[in-house]
Amino acid sequence: MSFSCYSLKVLFIAGIIINGLFNVTTLTAQVPPTPGGDDPVRHEAVDPFHIIDNIYFIGKTSHNPSYLFTSDAGHIIMDSTYEEFVPDIQANVEKLGFDIRDVKIILSSHAHHDHVGGHALLREVTGAKVMASKPDAEIIETGGVADFREGDPWHEGEVDEFITDKQVVSLGDIALQAHFTSGHTKGCTTWTTTVEDDGRQYDLVLLCGLRMDQNSPLVGHPDYPEMPKDFAYSFAVAKTLPVDVFLGAHGYWFNLEDKIEKLKTNPEINPFINPEEYYRIVEGWERLYLERLKRERQ
Ligand SMILES: [Zn+2]
Repeated sequence: MSFSCYSLKVLFIAGIIINGLFNVTTLTAQVPPTPGGDDPVRHEAVDPFHIIDNIYFIGKTSHNPSYLFTSDAGHIIMDSTYEEFVPDIQANVEKLGFDIRDVKIILSSHAHHDHVGGHALLREVTGAKVMASKPDAEIIETGGVADFREGDPWHEGEVDEFITDKQVVSLGDIALQAHFTSGHTKGCTTWTTTVEDDGRQYDLVLLCGLRMDQNSPLVGHPDYPEMPKDFAYSFAVAKTLPVDVFLGAHGYWFNLEDKIEKLKTNPEINPFINPEEYYRIVEGWERLYLERLKRERQ
């Protein structure tokens, strides 16, 4: 082999390796990895803070957001997270200068332990009514037993009212529209509203999540045969929502830790106005879904 031919071959192989690495990097950039059990984002308490307009972060940790929407007619809490986090949520609401008993409605992104495990206790503490989509209400009312996924049960909670697809939940000047995006749970609900910042209007999306279960099949699940169809519908819905401000059921989806830092160092610019992250993760999840669908149907 002549030197030039050998060099070309090396270059070609190096090209394949670099290209491969690049593709892997692109993939992981689209769907950030789930923080492991030891990751401090799951345990370290964060101070409550103002996100935008009438919306505040009141979750105990950045990994398990809980949101407060305020109005003169009372407040709404989205996601109670774990039962043991409820006292922290209550303390955070009060730290921000609001009264926990002014919370009138409790909503959720989806009925998994880490989002609705504290519903029963929070309902008791606030006297608020719990509203959920019918399929997720069944999971809340059975403490997780009605879910198609296997998992440890939690304290069952009461649901006072069902939400229908596209319903607008209103309280004072809060108006949150429900968009059913089933798949992760059968009643997974993505919420939208408009917010104002510095005199401008923005579309906000609070994403319920479109991650597949890693421990059970996507195709032909005995307790959820319509799962592939539901995911397809949910991706179509999620991709058409107008988004300026992206919030979600877990902080790592939208670089929450990073944004908390930015808020401290540069409070003039609201870091939550950032639509690219939303489309990147939705498209990343969709790609994983399509790959898995193809694999399981083969
Ligand atoms: Zn979940």
